[in-house]
Amino acid sequence: MDSERVCEILNVLSKEYDGGAYPGRNSEGLNPEWPCDPFHVLIATILSQRTKDDNTRKASDSLFRRFGTMESLAEADPDEVAELIRPAGFPKQKSKAIVECCRIILDKYGGTVPRETEELVSLPSVGRKTAACVRSYAMNIPSVCVDTHVHRITNLMGLVSTKNPEETEYELMRITPVGRWSDINRYFVRHGQVICIPNHPRCSGCSVRNMCDRWLGSQP
Ligand code: SF4
Repeated sequence: MDSERVCEILNVLSKEYDGGAYPGRNSEGLNPEWPCDPFHVLIATILSQRTKDDNTRKASDSLFRRFGTMESLAEADPDEVAELIRPAGFPKQKSKAIVECCRIILDKYGGTVPRETEELVSLPSVGRKTAACVRSYAMNIPSVCVDTHVHRITNLMGLVSTKNPEETEYELMRITPVGRWSDINRYFVRHGQVICIPNHPRCSGCSVRNMCDRWLGSQP
């Protein structure tokens, strides 16, 4: 039942939104010049932590224009990187993590971003969300990538009842067929940006309201 409901919601949303995209390269055509490869997705996703999509886009634009490869970024001066990524917030912390990630991947993995979640989460500033985003968008490995939109909307809709993104990830993995795991981030993030906006959901214009506990509970 839960599985059917999730699939039906994803089917409806997939007709409204295109394929979605990794943070900072959203489906409105922003940053189309950056390739969807593991290096770019990893760095953009680290930049996206604790900031808005627009800030991620600005920061990744500046960074990738100056340092377009893992090799160049591994040798970059962290202070220069921090200046370039300032719009994304936490510049010193993110710059240190990004440069360090590149160095580790070059030294330990021969320059290839690792595929396994356990290896990815051992990199600086890479948690389960970032790992799932890289696996899903850049490696085509089915993964449930839970950001704030996914966590918020799936709880509002009553698909899950969870306290944090990690719980949401495991619960969504349980109730969703593996073949649809990557669609979750693709479509719920777009829905969160356009219709189910934080604090101001546009429920009357929502195509999946008839499958949403919040909407159904508000009806007389
Ligand atoms: S009905 Fe409202 S709360 Fe439910 S998913 Fe749609 S916009 Fe979000």
